[in-house]
Amino acid sequence: MNAEDSRFKKGLQPSRLAGMSAPAAEPLEESDSRSLFEIMHTTEHEQVIYCNNNDVGLRAIIAIHNTVLGPALGGLRMWPYGSEEEALKDVLRLSRGMTYKAAVAGLNLGGGKAVIIGDPRKDKSEALFRALGKFVDTLNGRYITAEDVGIDVNDMEFIFQETNNVVGVHQVHGGSGDPSPFTAYGTVQGIRAALQYRFGDEEIGKYRYAVQGAGHVGHHLIRLLREEGAKVFATDINEEALADAVEMGAEAVGLDEIYEVDAEVFCPCALGAVINDNTIPRLKCEIVAGAANNQLANDACGDQLDARGILYAPDYAVNAGGLMNVSIEFEGYNEERAYRMTRAIYYNVGRIFKIADRDGIPTWKASDRMAEERIEILGKIKMPYMGKPHRFPGRERNSA
Ligand code: NAD
Repeated sequence: MNAEDSRFKKGLQPSRLAGMSAPAAEPLEESDSRSLFEIMHTTEHEQVIYCNNNDVGLRAIIAIHNTVLGPALGGLRMWPYGSEEEALKDVLRLSRGMTYKAAVAGLNLGGGKAVIIGDPRKDKSEALFRALGKFVDTLNGRYITAEDVGIDVNDMEFIFQETNNVVGVHQVHGGSGDPSPFTAYGTVQGIRAALQYRFGDEEIGKYRYAVQGAGHVGHHLIRLLREEGAKVFATDINEEALADAVEMGAEAVGLDEIYEVDAEVFCPCALGAVINDNTIPRLKCEIVAGAANNQLANDACGDQLDARGILYAPDYAVNAGGLMNVSIEFEGYNEERAYRMTRAIYYNVGRIFKIADRDGIPTWKASDRMAEERIEILGKIKMPYMGKPHRFPGRERNSA
């Protein structure tokens, strides 16, 4: 699961999470001299765990951002970080993103993430992942791990040998398998919500779509759009992926041309930061709704889209289908349930638009607000003490 959101791209943002104090300092920057506690205060992380095993060469960091809604869930990333600070920055940013993503998705999950410092091409071993699995297990389910960049299903198998607290395990173990069809299906729900809001109807086939990236998610998205009879323009740097898209009836366009095609909906499904100062003035679309993470180069680009009258369906709300899909493993995986849950993205995205209208703010901000409001209100339903039978060994009551 590759789950991060655009707000956390440049660094961590000041706090707005419920019941937590205002930030004491600016977000974590490239070179940060503050202590870890000071940084955690700013980013509002609950817990950061450093995991070390000299014998197997494991150096990993697990970050648990917020568990008000439930256990912190987020993928494990393996990356040859240039420094420990870079790894820390990444894990803090990504884990915080997961809190927002799960909250907007309506899941009873918090935000967490783990990173291993190492090169996935040469530093992987059974012992490395089993050691990491043991560390995850010590957290007793406070953190649940999954696949992310640099990690594949074989690595997850090793982790799964040491802990139950892992999702996205292979289907042979009752896991959920490839999440991309669900992410694509969820993206269609987000698109429908945007069409409804902008045009007052949500007939997919009536509109034109520019899909950037015909990889795992893009492929399924193009298929679903074409099944509704929609006109689809597609681009990809990979000729084979593009040929597949054409096979499904999409019209191939150039890599740079995709921003300017005549289509009502632009669907980024490849890279992050594609909505930026260069591309915004060129967009001809009325809606941006796609699966890619970190679509906005920065928050100001979200404001610029808004000023141009282009409706932005926030990336982490639209692409939550993959997260929803793995979350079903908690209760026993069931594909039909996964599709049913993914349909909620239509309502989630619609609600974001309503909050944007209610508060007079751009949709990227409304999405954050929706997450914060859910965490705040659900944080308050907890009874002060839930009660359990007490034992007082050795005490007796007078029977007289
Ligand atoms: P992928 O690697 O399978 O597909 C990405 C495609 O984009 C590839 O075919 C690649 O060739 C193409 N591409 C790369 N650079 C390009 C460019 N400059 N112009 C056009 N095409 C380009 O990845 P994916 O799993 O399909 O994920 C796509 C995006 O969606 C990513 O941002 C990912 O983080 C996000 N996402 C994916 C999932 C999921 O379930 N896979 C879930 C949530 C978010």
